[in-house]
Amino acid sequence: MKKILVTGGAGFLGSHLCEKLLNENNEVVCLDNYFTGDKSNIVRLLKNPYFELIRHDVTMPFFIEVDEIYNLACPASPIHYQYNGIKTVKTSVMGAINMLGLAKRIKAKVLQASTSEVYGDPEVHPQKEEYWGHVNPIGLRACYDEGKRCAETLFMNYHHQNNVKIKIGRIFNTYGPRMHPCDGRVVSNFIVQALKGEKITIYGDGKQTRSFSYVDDLIVGLIKLMNTNDSFIGPVNLGNPNEFTIIELAEKVLKLTKSKSKLIFSKLPDDDPMQRKPDISLAKKVLKWEPKIQLDEGLVKTIEYFKKKISK
Ligand code: NAD
Ligand code: UDP
Repeated sequence: MKKILVTGGAGFLGSHLCEKLLNENNEVVCLDNYFTGDKSNIVRLLKNPYFELIRHDVTMPFFIEVDEIYNLACPASPIHYQYNGIKTVKTSVMGAINMLGLAKRIKAKVLQASTSEVYGDPEVHPQKEEYWGHVNPIGLRACYDEGKRCAETLFMNYHHQNNVKIKIGRIFNTYGPRMHPCDGRVVSNFIVQALKGEKITIYGDGKQTRSFSYVDDLIVGLIKLMNTNDSFIGPVNLGNPNEFTIIELAEKVLKLTKSKSKLIFSKLPDDDPMQRKPDISLAKKVLKWEPKIQLDEGLVKTIEYFKKKISK
């Protein structure tokens, strides 16, 4: 039985990861400060004697003995990471330093939940791991993008200087049950708006694209990455390469919810990437991983979740 620390474990992805790791007979310690996470995401897991919950902020040092660390602590939705940009940078950078320092001391393997945002508003399409990105270092998104880029730098330096066993996964837009209804990301916004009969808020002309990955696929990818040979450290793209415009997403949500909500258009936020699609050849080759759940199927499952959540 492995003992595994998941930072950000009470969040959307973290709670699914904790659950899957417990189901695979590991002992799991979930660390979270509940900034964007919620106890309701993991409350069911508290019945399991191999699950432990700790309120802690990753910007502060933390000491524990574990075999593996998944470092997910960081707000991921633009409205939340822009709420306190300084704190977002601290969470990414100091959080990485604290988790890497811990991993070095206890000789644990540590995985960084990095992001497609390291590519910024990409000029290369689809995005391959070799692409260095196109990020505005002083823009609205910089606290998140540059924080995550610096975290990758720290991971590489701890690996090369101190032989820390690391893994870097670059996660592309992921959606599914347990996204917060007020999370502000596009899939949860559109579904909640459609179910409530409110206007669907399209930012810009809606022709910008994203490639959406269902949470279960993504969690399998993260665990495969952690379990690959130590010589493979990444970075590796983890996402679904099927690309949609935001208008196409809105139309799918309207159809699947049978909603009569109207679309309204507002200003596109600054630096909003115009196109995004992962090249996942590396993940396919090394991890033998590719997503199985396509957008319609994943949306149906997510809509079911939000129907129950909203009616409570
Ligand atoms: P989320 O906001 O639901 O989860 C983040 C969790 O981290 C929350 O539980 C939050 O309370 C916790 N947290 C934030 N700051 C913290 C701090 N200082 N100390 C301790 N805990 C803290 O977001 P998510 O979608 O589950 O994202 C999880 C991770 O995956 C993040 O690192 C994010 O950058 C990365 N990621 C997610 C996506 C996606 O589409 N979901 C895409 C790329 C990268
Ligand atoms: N978006 C939108 N309406 C919303 C929320 C988001 O049109 O209510 C757009 C947003 O401008 C972006 C895309 O949807 O172009 C994805 O936004 P999200 O915040 O989910 O993720 P990110 O921009 O970080 O990829």
